[in-house]
Amino acid sequence: RDDKIDEIVKTVDEHGSKFLRFQFVDIHGLPKNVAVSLNKPEDVETIIEDGLLFDGSSVAGFVGINDSDLALKPDINTFSTLPWRPDEYGACRFICDVYHTDGTPFEGDPRGVLKKSLKLAKDRGYQYNMGPEPEFFLVDHDENGKLIPADNAEYFDVEPLDQGIDVRKEIVLGLEKLNFNIEVSHHEVAPGQHEVDFRFDDALKTADAVVTFKQAIKALVDNLGYQVTFMPKPFFGINGSGMHCNQSLFKDGKNIFYDPDTETQLSQEALYFIGGLLKHAKALSAILSPTINSYKRLVPGYEAPCYIAYGLKNRSTLLRIPASRGLGTRIECRSADPSCNPYLAFAVLLEAGLDGLDNKIDPGEPTEFNAFALTPDELAAKGIDTLPTSLWEAYHSLEKDDVVKNALGDYVYDQFYNIKRAEWDDYRIQVFDYERDKFLNI
Ligand code: GLN
Ligand code: MG
Ligand code: MG
Ligand code: MG
Repeated sequence: RDDKIDEIVKTVDEHGSKFLRFQFVDIHGLPKNVAVSLNKPEDVETIIEDGLLFDGSSVAGFVGINDSDLALKPDINTFSTLPWRPDEYGACRFICDVYHTDGTPFEGDPRGVLKKSLKLAKDRGYQYNMGPEPEFFLVDHDENGKLIPADNAEYFDVEPLDQGIDVRKEIVLGLEKLNFNIEVSHHEVAPGQHEVDFRFDDALKTADAVVTFKQAIKALVDNLGYQVTFMPKPFFGINGSGMHCNQSLFKDGKNIFYDPDTETQLSQEALYFIGGLLKHAKALSAILSPTINSYKRLVPGYEAPCYIAYGLKNRSTLLRIPASRGLGTRIECRSADPSCNPYLAFAVLLEAGLDGLDNKIDPGEPTEFNAFALTPDELAAKGIDTLPTSLWEAYHSLEKDDVVKNALGDYVYDQFYNIKRAEWDDYRIQVFDYERDKFLNI
């Protein structure tokens, strides 16, 4: 028997687990799961082998009711216990790949989309690494029941201003039990806002980790009686929550974005990759900033990007090259936010970058000034274009971009497009307090 399976059987036995959860994500990147009952630890092997059939028509972005059976097959490398569940009869889980009943991979599985993109990188000898920086708010309610940030602290503040310190501590300890390698955790710029960062890794592992991270934080925070949100812009007038995506390509264990012999110590490959990301930035937006609310974050003045440009150390551009060199040389994409589906997001980022490499796309000169300080005319004179300002604009950009569409595949593209168009149509007919305040006396 596989060593890995032996190890899993042992852990299941030690934990007295009665529930083996099979988990996957829908098109939005939201986790879904079903628990398979476990009578004795040795059953794990057959449970894994058998997989499980489920109703794919009830999962957003999956299949129609007329052909609705799909199968889940656990990826044994993703086995973990769930530290937020009670110890007694503790639950364990696998992240699964989704298949048709005839055993062929299901084209609508976001994890499958990323695997397909990573294969393209691998065929070129590359490993694609990703280090995400998800931000989130701890929220509370005021005496009128209105949602407010849970404290009034600022960037890097300490207790007692920082009221999230104990929650962050529980989050970090909980995530460490899930084998996360947590690097830093801190209060962020906005009141009630926090960031917890874990070490970069291969993009598939990182996408799995982002899903687990959000799931774990929501569960741990709920257990503590607090409320957390990963929505990109929960409050007008203060910073929103991003999920910066730090990317690098490794070949034979070396970071190919690093070249000690150039002035910037960035390689030609890094520049081409940047060229690809810039070229496809508008279509990428539909996947990286996929909700109506995402576009309320991408406005000037809040450390979130709105201009399609790159800079070294510059936090006003879409792409930033942090100062770190050597293994840590990376391209940070700042538009992504935690409402994105990490599998789809990493797949489209990678394929946009590979397009830059394959077609030697020149990214032009870096932007070294504060892009927020320029007027629209000055931006135009410098040839700096803007990111989509709405979901509507983003999905119409996606419509025209074959590289990004191709990365998603026809199936996911169609599902995504239809769901997002419906989301936009639902939103655009709403009437908000803002409009009554502004136009009632017109
Ligand atoms: N919260 C900012 C954003 O929306 C980022 C701030 C930061 O990490 N320096 O992306
Ligand atoms: Mg950070
Ligand atoms: Mg941050
Ligand atoms: Mg960052």
